[in-house]
Parts: sequence; C-alpha cells; structure tokens
Amino acid sequence: MVRIVLTGFRGTGKTRAGELLAHMLNVPFFDTDALIEKRVGMTIYEIFQQYGEEYFRTKECETIASLDQTDSVVSTGGGAILDPSNVAALRQGSILFLLTADDRTIEQRIASTGRPSLTRLPLRDEIRMLQAARRPFYIGAADFCINTTHRDANETAMVIRHILAEGTVTRRDAEEFLLFVKSTAIALEEAAVLERTLCTPGRDHITRIYAVAGYPVGHSLSPLLYNRLFTKYRMNCLYTRLGSPDFDNIIREAKKIDIRGLSVTIPFKTDALASIDVADEHVTAIGAANTVLMFDGTTFGFNTDWTGIREPLSHLKGSRAVVIGAGGAAAAAVYALQSLDMDVVVITRSPAKAEKFSGRFSVRVSPLSGFSCANPDIVINATPVGMGSDTRSPIDVSLLKPGMTVYDLVYTPADTPLLTAARKAGCVTIPGTEMFVRQACAQFRCFTGIKVPPETVRGCLL
Ligand code: NAP
Repeated sequence: MVRIVLTGFRGTGKTRAGELLAHMLNVPFFDTDALIEKRVGMTIYEIFQQYGEEYFRTKECETIASLDQTDSVVSTGGGAILDPSNVAALRQGSILFLLTADDRTIEQRIASTGRPSLTRLPLRDEIRMLQAARRPFYIGAADFCINTTHRDANETAMVIRHILAEGTVTRRDAEEFLLFVKSTAIALEEAAVLERTLCTPGRDHITRIYAVAGYPVGHSLSPLLYNRLFTKYRMNCLYTRLGSPDFDNIIREAKKIDIRGLSVTIPFKTDALASIDVADEHVTAIGAANTVLMFDGTTFGFNTDWTGIREPLSHLKGSRAVVIGAGGAAAAAVYALQSLDMDVVVITRSPAKAEKFSGRFSVRVSPLSGFSCANPDIVINATPVGMGSDTRSPIDVSLLKPGMTVYDLVYTPADTPLLTAARKAGCVTIPGTEMFVRQACAQFRCFTGIKVPPETVRGCLL
C-alpha cells in the first residue's frame, strides 16, 4: 500500500469517496479541509469570508506539508493543485487521483448540500470560471483521473480500489505494446525494465509510463533525466523511449498502455499536431508540440522548447536578434524572441523554403549573407551545424563582435565550434544544454505539476 490522495473540485465527491476508500483499505482517512478548520477554529466558509482566499491557501499549504506520509487516504481541495509545492508534497510516495465531474453535476451536488459559493460570483459562474482556470494545472498533476459525473461516492471508491489492484492496462495490451517496443531500437536493459513493469506476474499495476517519441531516440538524455526526477520525488513512474518512423503508430501503441505523457522530438514535433485534441496557445502559434499528455480521454499538446530559449535571454528585452535556420527550433526561437519584443531577422540557406515561416511570424527572412546588415545583439544557431563531430560554424566567425550574446541550440557537444569562436571574440555565450535544461523544467511541470529548479535538472544530467 502507499498513501492515496484524492483531489478535485468541490462536488466531485472526494471526501465521501475518500472516507469509503479508507474504510475498504482499512487505513486512516484525512481531509485537509477538516484539518484546516480544526487548525483555524472556523469553517472554510468563515475563513474565506473573514480572512480571504490567500489566508486559506497559506493554511492549506501548511496543512499539506504537515501530512503524514504513511499508508492512508487523503482528500484535498482542487485549488491546492495550483501551487506546485503542494503538488510535490502530495505526490511524493503517493498515488494521486483527480476526481472530475461536469459543471452541471457539480452545481447540482453543491446546491443540494446548501453550501454557499466561495467567491462573490453566482455558484454556476463560479464553477465554470474556476473549472476552466484550473484545468491546465490538473492535466499533469495526477496519476489517474476518475470522472464521477455518473458515479456516486461508493462507485468512485470501488473504481479506485480496482485500479490499485489491477491497474488500467490489460495483460494482452501490455504484451502487444512490449512486442512493439522490442521491434524498435531500444536497449536490452530498458526493454527488460519495461517488461518487468508491465508484463511480469506480480507486477506493480499502477506505475505510470512516460516516454520520448522520436526517430531516432537512442541518444536522448530524457530517460536518464526523468527517471532520476521520478526517483527524487518518489513517484511511481517510469520513463522509456519509443523510437519508430511512424508517429501514428507510436501513439496507437502508447495508448494501449494508457501512457501518461510523451516528450516529442525530431522529426515528429509538427506531426504531433494531428494527434492532439487540445493544443495550447504556444503550440498553435509555433506550429509544433514537444509535449503530449493523455488526460481523461483527451490528448493535450504543449510546447516547452520556446521557454527554454526565452528564459536565458529574458533580461535582453527589445534587442536585435538573428536566428540562423528556419526549422522547428528556429520557429520556437522566433516565438520566444518576439515575446521579448525583439526585432528578429531569420537567416537561412534556403529563403524560399522559409516563406511560410516568415508569414507565420512576420519576421524578415534573409540569406546567410544578410547577417552583417542585421547588426544583431543576439545570435541564435537553430541549425544542426556544429553537432557531433561537425567542426563547422553556421556563420563566418569574423562577423562576431564583442558584447554579442551567442546562443547555440546544439547541445552535443556542449561546447560547439560557434561557441568557442564566440568566446574568443568576446561574446557572451549560452550553450544548448541551457535550452535542454529549461525546457525540461517546463516539461516536468506539464507532466507532473511539480516545479523543479534548473539546478536540480543539471544535477540529474551529471
Ligand atoms: P530542423 O527542423 O531539421 O531544421 C534545421 C534547420 O537548419 C533548417 O532550416 C535547415 O535548412 C537548416 N540547416 C541544416 N543544415 C544546414 C547547413 N549546413 N547550413 C545552414 N542551414 C542548415 O531541425 P530543428 O528541430 O529545428 O533543430 C535544429 C537544431 O536545434 C538541432 O541541432 C537540434 O539539436 C537543436 N535543438 C536543440 C534543443 C535543445 O534542447 N537544446 C531542442 C531542439 C532542437 P534546410 O531547410 O535548408 O535544410
């Protein structure tokens, strides 16, 4: 047994289902709202009325941090999930179930108890507004999602007990998935770990599976990184690699094992759009997704690449920038730079190919020879030039000037020919590993709801 945490909006039945589940499992039950009321000596409604929501959230955070991590069932309010430190505290050594229900059902359930709305809005509007605002936070924050719209608390508790005992994947689907994985170029040890997790008698049914999807993926550092993070946060999750030339095939197979999330890499970041039911605004603007999550029967797409480019440059708002290349990483770079009000010129060896690209972002496109006219403060290499044993630089290094910031998105090797030349020319240099680290922080937050510091990610990659 582990600690079981139930969370969800008011009216999703988490408290009653939690009590029943604790009874079925013969473990203690804790309701954080009841613990807060005891701590403050007032009802939740009175706390909101007298001290406001901020005070309530502080007490909630203290209460969650003080919870025992022993075998138990915990029920906690859905608003707690908006704070990543609460999510980290709730998920460590636990299995987190998010209970959902449609707005109408929630309204009927709350109204039937006579509980007042907690904001100044009418109950119906409060529910609609809060549910919509919280959904992005809920998508990654739970191991499992149970829709309680057509279930009473007893049925919900029974479903949870069934998942704890049997998981959500049939033996046959797990075996079919494993055959698929073994047909790809996965390392023997990684396939063996997956087989033990999914198919061995006596297996742990509730391990959630994540993977990097691309072709090829043998070089990806993501399995090492995410498995170390899952261990650090004591989460029952396994990250593997799915390397196949057909993205549709990957998605079809991944769904068989109820995959929780995918990191999408070359060459599928654009292909992924066709498999996504709901794309966030950045995916739509960039035209590519690098993160896919499955949640409550829906496939969600996110892009965290652009934050990985933006963060190390965020102090240089309004600068002039040149992006070299016009592929997927260049699109994320232009989006990131424009979000910092920069004047961006894309230089590419094939400007004709970049026409579509320039339409999307309204940037100037120029051949490689246009570098010096742009007179940039910032240079971003978004081509593979300089990768691996390639000793070339994507531009003539004599054009680099002291004080320029040069960000090479290539991260193998960490020190590229462009960066070496830029350092010699007196430029500020940023290696591609920074993009990898920063986008991974954002991706881990999408995957789990937990905010991990960049230093922790760097440490996991050593
Ligand atoms: P992509 O979609 O294939 O685009 C590559 C771009 O580079 C294209 O515009 C291509 O031009 C251009 N290019 C290729 N070879 C060139 C050369 N010899 N001279 C001039 N231009 C050249 O690839 P991508 O996904 O954007 O990735 C680009 C780079 O970013 C890769 O090195 C990748 O490793 C890196 N990246 C790093 C991270 C990270 O976390 N650090 C994340 C994503 C990507 P044509 O269209 O004319 O071929």
